[in-house]
Amino acid sequence: MSKKVAFITGAGQGIGEAIALRLAQDGFIVACADLNIETAQLVKEKIINQGGNAFAIQVDVAKREDVFQAIQKTLDLCGDLNVVINNAGIAPIMPIEAVTPEIYQKTMDINVGGVLWGIQAAVETFKKLGHGGKIISASSQAGQVGNPELSVYGATKFAVRGITQTAAKELAPLGITVNAYCPGIVDTPMMRKVAQDLADLSGESFEWGMQQFAQNITLKRISKPEDVAACVSFLSGPDSDYITGQAIIVDGGMVFN
Ligand code: NAD
Repeated sequence: MSKKVAFITGAGQGIGEAIALRLAQDGFIVACADLNIETAQLVKEKIINQGGNAFAIQVDVAKREDVFQAIQKTLDLCGDLNVVINNAGIAPIMPIEAVTPEIYQKTMDINVGGVLWGIQAAVETFKKLGHGGKIISASSQAGQVGNPELSVYGATKFAVRGITQTAAKELAPLGITVNAYCPGIVDTPMMRKVAQDLADLSGESFEWGMQQFAQNITLKRISKPEDVAACVSFLSGPDSDYITGQAIIVDGGMVFN
């Protein structure tokens, strides 16, 4: 098998879909993994129609066994694995006083557990294969600074940066690099829902909700999913071989370090 293999969670829509399409263009065989198998199948079909190579897998990233099984299936089908992208995530929006134990637990299980299990399954597989690899996870602009109404979400995205730094240090001897990407405001179903929820909380319109997030972007436009996919393409390829433990901000100029 000469082609490299990439496994992507949350690949059924939004940023994950754009990453899947981009990595297929880059020449990867793409495992489109998602809780929603129908949307994952649609993305797989788009890739095949564009002359690429892909398949769809159902996975719930909150379940460790699920993640291990999905990555094993990828290995069984392709005989190799080179890049694991822990992209799936959810974004509940509410004032801090309204956070329930259920919302806290579910968001942690998906956004942090999903990354942890993805890293573990990737390491096990890279070790089996006897080569290194690249692990890339979704953090956020909200994992760099606190955002109102996003207390639990922001906490999970800060956690992703912490796990990324730890894993980079632990796994370097195995030839594995570990990085994260921090999108800003990306026009995806998730972002549209966040904008609508904020608008509903404030009794305002959807456009007002989007504007609350867009107004402080230096480049004065909301991100397209392809802007993020371009960064992930770089992190998945050989040009980023000397980069590890980083959380790269792709936000049009919102957070300045
Ligand atoms: P989205 O909601 O549009 O898509 C997320 C995908 O993940 C969906 O296909 C969904 O079915 C899948 N998913 C949800 N729970 C899952 C689970 N338990 N197991 C497997 N798959 C699951 O989201 P998006 O906007 O494309 O965001 C992708 C990632 O980027 C997320 O981690 C998100 O937190 C992060 N992010 C997004 C933005 C943004 O502005 N959209 C900004 C910063 C970070």
